[in-house]
Amino acid sequence: MDTRRLFRVSEQFISIQGEGEDIGLPFSFIRFFGCNYYCEWCDTKYAVQHWSSEYYERSPDELLEWVLAQGNRRVCLTGGEPLTAPAQLLLQFVQTLKENNQYIDVQSNGTIFNAALASLIDSWSISPKLGSSKMTERPDILAKYLAAKRAGSLTGKLTLKFVIKDSADLQLTFTLLESLPEIATLQLPIILQPEGMAGHDTAEYVTALRWLTEQTAIGDEAARWRKYQPRILPQLHRIIWGGRKGI
Ligand code: SF4
Repeated sequence: MDTRRLFRVSEQFISIQGEGEDIGLPFSFIRFFGCNYYCEWCDTKYAVQHWSSEYYERSPDELLEWVLAQGNRRVCLTGGEPLTAPAQLLLQFVQTLKENNQYIDVQSNGTIFNAALASLIDSWSISPKLGSSKMTERPDILAKYLAAKRAGSLTGKLTLKFVIKDSADLQLTFTLLESLPEIATLQLPIILQPEGMAGHDTAEYVTALRWLTEQTAIGDEAARWRKYQPRILPQLHRIIWGGRKGI
């Protein structure tokens, strides 16, 4: 049994949601330290123990106090991988956030399913890692999310978000979607976004957005995507602030 009473935290900050279904809305962000993956293009390496050992510790009460002091109604639990935080402690924290009427978004890589949290989270943003990340997605875990959604135990939004670097990633995404027919049956929101801007300027990012749009919504290859109706979205925070930390 995990008896740790403190979270490892990489940073806390106020910003807008930069990606996904809630893009543009104000949020309080808690970035937990630690991840079970080490993706090649990870844009938060400072929050992953494979590359960094810098974190501080906070209790659930301290984090709640900070969240309430910000005055936002929405909090994003991100990382690293937030679901690697001690499970009981995370459950306790999420319960107190709900008691204080916070809308909770969890940004996860989709490799961990925590049934106890399923009904408490307002928005699950699941981002499976594909070929260019050098990691592999976990369709067996995604199937658990889908089963919970179908059974009604996962009551919030469930969104699949894919970071696409190249045509191989796009094909892997399509193959993964096809392997889990419930994604289409449940009409889950699918978001495709180009891999971040590290080392690229805004013009190159726009080119990547255009390519992704033409491949999945307009061009000859797009017809097969129509059963999924994917949304093409940028990372808004990257356009506004580049790769700046803490925003
Ligand atoms: S899962 Fe996310 S936080 Fe973890 S290494 Fe990959 S990109 Fe970074």
